[in-house]
Amino acid sequence: MRHTWICVIGLLLLVSPSLLCTAGAGQQAGGDPDKVDGDIRRLIGNVDPEQISKHVFYLAKDPLPYRKLNFTLPGHEKNTLYEADDYLAGKLAAWGYRVEREGVQVQAFRRDTSKPKHAQYSPPKPEDPWYTAYNLCVEKKGRSCPGRILVVLAHKDSQSWIDSPGANDNAIGTAGVLEMARVLAAYPTESTIRFLLCNEEHTPWTSRTAAQNAKSRGDDIVAVFNLDGIGAKGTEQAASGKKTNVTAYTKPEGRRLAELMAEVNARYSIGLEQRAAERPGPGDDDGSFILAGFPAAVINIGSWPYADPNYHAEGDIPETCDIQNAAMTVQATLAAVLTLDRGV
Ligand SMILES: [Zn+2]
Repeated sequence: MRHTWICVIGLLLLVSPSLLCTAGAGQQAGGDPDKVDGDIRRLIGNVDPEQISKHVFYLAKDPLPYRKLNFTLPGHEKNTLYEADDYLAGKLAAWGYRVEREGVQVQAFRRDTSKPKHAQYSPPKPEDPWYTAYNLCVEKKGRSCPGRILVVLAHKDSQSWIDSPGANDNAIGTAGVLEMARVLAAYPTESTIRFLLCNEEHTPWTSRTAAQNAKSRGDDIVAVFNLDGIGAKGTEQAASGKKTNVTAYTKPEGRRLAELMAEVNARYSIGLEQRAAERPGPGDDDGSFILAGFPAAVINIGSWPYADPNYHAEGDIPETCDIQNAAMTVQATLAAVLTLDRGV
């Protein structure tokens, strides 16, 4: 009798979908490596720099000069961050996604002009106004492993303490996430792909709430890719025409994702000058996930340390974005996500 039960438990373990999914979804889902490879080549070929450019100019120039809760265009009812939310949610809905909004209470930063330009944010006072900032979240449910989640995220707000369009920081990453969602809209994945647009230029960061709520629900998040400042680099590097990406990780689980970025960049001849860097500790929106207990989280960024000369300044305008570089980073991120999805 005892032996029978051991066998039954053994059989149950063998067919348990969650156990099958952890090893690599695609192998069990019948992922023919050649077909998967072909799918990845086709999908990354669909990444369109024109689309990315359109989003960046819309979000950081015309009609929206900024994306912040404490700035409303004259004659408009909604603040510019809410207007950006409407634009982003409208695009996602048009591609068939159901948009969820997660509200978080935040304040704008105050400005301290005695500090260096890139770091003039300073804490608000308790009496400063509070606003509800929204995380926008959509998902593609996985076909065979819906409980296994891959997250792609970007912060969508611009700097609350200064009138900067925040084109490289981070309309460009927002546009990158949007483009990945468009390209994948009709493609069946084995794992669930979650696209998250959050806020990091108001306080507290709303990615903290998204990550903590994911942990409370018991979400099985196996990878987090944060797109922030993709393609943004120093003046000299930009003039050299180099297309760069740095994947910065905090934990060994993140280092594996950085290695994967290098592998797919080579395998699919994307052409990025791709490197890995170790963060001294959790930071940015990938850090929110690490702090919540999801160690496989990285940031994809154009330079490390971040070398954009217009960082957090009024000159961070769409014309300075390297759209082609950003599109290549989106291709590499997409290839990494699909490789993890199919376990090839
Ligand atoms: Zn910033």
